[in-house]
Amino acid sequence: VFVVFEGGEGAGKSTQVTRLAATLGADGRDVVVTREPGATDVGARIRQLVLDKGDAPAPRAEALLYAADRAHHVATVVRPALARGAVVVSDRYVDSSLAYQGAGRTLPVAEISWLSSWATGGLKPDLVVLLDVDPGIGLSRVDSRGLGQDRLESESRAFHERVRYAFLDLAAADPKRYLVLDAGRPAEEISEAVTARLAGLLST
Ligand code: C5P
Repeated sequence: VFVVFEGGEGAGKSTQVTRLAATLGADGRDVVVTREPGATDVGARIRQLVLDKGDAPAPRAEALLYAADRAHHVATVVRPALARGAVVVSDRYVDSSLAYQGAGRTLPVAEISWLSSWATGGLKPDLVVLLDVDPGIGLSRVDSRGLGQDRLESESRAFHERVRYAFLDLAAADPKRYLVLDAGRPAEEISEAVTARLAGLLST
């Protein structure tokens, strides 16, 4: 079973990934926690390139770098884990590219979708949990942790609004695969909603 958490800056994805992994682990399940970009050695180097705000790659180069990170991640981490029956929980996946490189950087979303599907060999998550957050709130959360200065300065509010609505549109187009939650809810409530939704998938 492949579960992905998506959302904008400061949505609390990493908290929820950690909580879900702990719950599944306590149930005795084989859980693999991972993320994009940067889960592998190759990916860590790509992450440095894409997140270097001083020398940011051009949008199409950025899209290809994310696709390369994902191709390597899927081939070396996600598919092997799924093949042995593990539950894979990833912080970000294809939707982040559709939202950030597509809607955010205004590259054609259909092209990013094709590129992503080529990179992954068509691997789709069983469940995408979208933690929806207003960019103003999310960015201030990141900022208050002292992590977000470069991102705050480099991307406009309009960019983050486009990203947010791209995520929401993807979820609306495929409700069976998505769970959309207000990221402002208490972490425990979010975890409970995720666990409840996953129960159906894990029993099969
Ligand atoms: O989730 P995390 O904070 O590790 O993501 C790092 C940054 O990478 C985010 O700020 C996001 O803006 C960016 N990103 C992106 N396109 C992706 C994935 C992440 O621009 N496909």
